[in-house]
Amino acid sequence: MEFATFADRAAAIEAEPADLEIVAHVATLLEDAADGDGSRTVEIVARYVQGRIFPAWTSRTLDVGPSACYEAIARAAGTNVSPDDVEERLAERGEIGDVAASYDFGGQRGLGAFGGGGDAAGGEDRTVLAVDETLRELAAAEGAGSQDRKVDLLFGLFNRCSSDEARYLARLVLAEMRIGVGEGTVRDAIGEAFDVPVEDVERALQVSNDYGEVARVAREDGREGLDAMTLAVGRPIQAMLAQTGTVTGALEDWDVAGVERKYDGARVQLHHDPIGVAVEDADATAVGESTAETRVFSRNMEDVTDALPEIVEFADDRLEEPVILDGEVVAIADDGEPLPFQEVLKRFRRKHDVAKAREDVAVRPVFFDCLHADGEDLLEEPLATRHDRLERVLREDPEQEPAQIEGLSLLWRTDDPDEIERIDAEALEAGHEGIMLKAPDSTYSPGRRGKHWRKRKPDVETLDCVVTGAEWGEGRRATFLGTFELSVRAGDSEKRRSAGSAVEPQNLETVGKVATGITDEKLAELTELLEPHVASEDGKRVELEPAVVFEVGYEEIQSSPTYSSGYALRFPRFVGVRSDKDPDDADTVARLERLRE
Ligand code: ATP
Repeated sequence: MEFATFADRAAAIEAEPADLEIVAHVATLLEDAADGDGSRTVEIVARYVQGRIFPAWTSRTLDVGPSACYEAIARAAGTNVSPDDVEERLAERGEIGDVAASYDFGGQRGLGAFGGGGDAAGGEDRTVLAVDETLRELAAAEGAGSQDRKVDLLFGLFNRCSSDEARYLARLVLAEMRIGVGEGTVRDAIGEAFDVPVEDVERALQVSNDYGEVARVAREDGREGLDAMTLAVGRPIQAMLAQTGTVTGALEDWDVAGVERKYDGARVQLHHDPIGVAVEDADATAVGESTAETRVFSRNMEDVTDALPEIVEFADDRLEEPVILDGEVVAIADDGEPLPFQEVLKRFRRKHDVAKAREDVAVRPVFFDCLHADGEDLLEEPLATRHDRLERVLREDPEQEPAQIEGLSLLWRTDDPDEIERIDAEALEAGHEGIMLKAPDSTYSPGRRGKHWRKRKPDVETLDCVVTGAEWGEGRRATFLGTFELSVRAGDSEKRRSAGSAVEPQNLETVGKVATGITDEKLAELTELLEPHVASEDGKRVELEPAVVFEVGYEEIQSSPTYSSGYALRFPRFVGVRSDKDPDDADTVARLERLRE
C-alpha cells in the first residue's frame, strides 16, 4: 500500500462524523492493506490509524522532539523556509498536520521531480512499509550525531510528500494523529475486515496489547489464530482498575467480598523468567532489547526496571518459575512504616544515581494478583484461584502461613461487615490507604475500570463530633492517646449560642470510636491537645471533658445499641481537628437521624 493511499483514507476518516462509518472506513483500509502479501502492512496500518508506530505495550518512541520535526519540514519546504517559519505557522494554525500540509514539498508534481530525496523513503519507494522502515531506523539512531541523522531521515520522508501525506506523516511523527480512531474502533474494524468475532479480537488485544499483531493474526489465521494468542512474559498488559464503592454495596452484590489492604504506592507489573525472556516484535529488530530475566513496568507500561533494583533482587531471590505478577511498590521508612506515595514516585522517576536514591528511600513490592505462572495464563481464572496461585508462587516453604509470606498482599473473604471494618481499621492503623473490595469470582480484565474491583468511596458527608474519651496506646504508642470516643449533642439541631454556654457531658451522646487514619506525628499533636482536658482515668481508659471537636468521615450511620445515641458510625475516619468549633457547635443526634433518611 502506498503511503499516499493511507493518507487519503486517513483524511476521509477524519472527515467522517459517524462512528459506525468510521469503523467501516478503517475495516476497508485494513482489508486493502492486507491485499497480496500485506501481513506486515496490515500490522503497521492498524497501529498508524491510532497514531502509534510501536506496539501499545512498549513505551518505545521515535525519540524526536518537535524542533527536529520542524527543521526537517523547513528543509524539505525549500531554501527560504526556516524552522522559525514553521513555528510561526504552527502558532497561527495550531496543529502540525495543517502546517506540514501548507508547504509545497513537490509531491503534487510527482515522484522523482526533485531527484535525490535523501534516504530510504525519500527515493522511489513510498509505500507504508518503506515509511515504517525509515521511522524505525530513525528510532534506532543513537549516540553522537544521532539527532542530525534523525533530521536527515525525516527530511527524506517529507521531501516530495503530497500535502495529505505531509499532514499525516507530521502527526504520526509527533504522536498527534487524532483522526477520531479509538481503540474500540480498531477492535471492531479488525472483526469486520477479517470476519472474526469481536469478543475474540478483544481477548487477543488484552493478552497481546498490540493492535498490529492482532490485526495480522486475524488476517493470517482468523479466529483460531486469535484464540491461540497468549500472554508473554516480558510484554506488559494493561492494568485492571477500580471503581469507587461501599462495603454495603459490595456485600449486597457479591454476598462474600474479597478484601485487601489498599497500599499507598505505585502500581507495577512484574515479569520474571528464571531462564530469560526475549520478546520480539513481528520484525525482531524492533524490540530486541528485552532479554533480561526480570522486567518491571509501571501502570503506563513504562519499563522502570532499572530504577527499582530491589524489585529485581526480590524476583531473583524468590521466584522460581516464569510469572507475571500485579502489585504495588511501596516505600518504607527506617521504622518499617510505609511512606507516602510521592516518595515512591521519586524512585520511579530516578534515572541516575539509583544506588543513592535507594539509600534515601527503600522500596518493596507487595503483589496482589498473578496473571501468568509457569506457562499458564490465569486471566480467565477467578480472583480466588489467582490469589491461591500467587501464594504458591511467593511461598518459601510449604508450612508458611499467608501472613508470613513476604511480598504477598493478603486476601480475606468475608460476608461480615464488622470483619471488614476491623480489616479497614488495621490497614489504616498500619499506615495503608484503607481497603480494596474485590469480587472473589471475578476474572482479570486488563484496562477495565469495572465493578469487580472497588476502592472505598471518599466520604461525602463529615460530622463534627466532640471527643469525650480516649485510650492510652500500647508499645510504641504508649505515650499517645488514641481510640477516641466520639459524641454528638443530644436534642435537636438548634445551636445554643448563648454567651458562655458550655456543653455538659450529660448533654452528649456517644456515637462511635475513631482509631484510624492517624499518623504517630498527628497522635502526638492530639495527645498534647487533649491531655489538659482529662477528667478521670481508669487504667488505659480516659474520660475527657468536652472541649475538642473532631471532623469525622464515615461510610454509613447505623442504628446500634452499643452507643448512647442509639446510632453508630460505620467506618469512622479522622479527618481533622475543628479548632474553629466549640462543643456547642458540634452535630446533633437529630442531624444523624436526618442523614440516615
Ligand atoms: P485511578 O486508578 O482511579 O486513576 P489511582 O491510580 O489513584 O486512581 P485508585 O483508583 O485510587 O488509584 O486505586 C487503584 C490503585 O490502588 C491501583 O491502581 C493500585 O495502584 C493501588 N492498589 C493498592 N493496593 C491495591 C490492591 N490490594 N489491589 C489493587 N490495587 C491496589
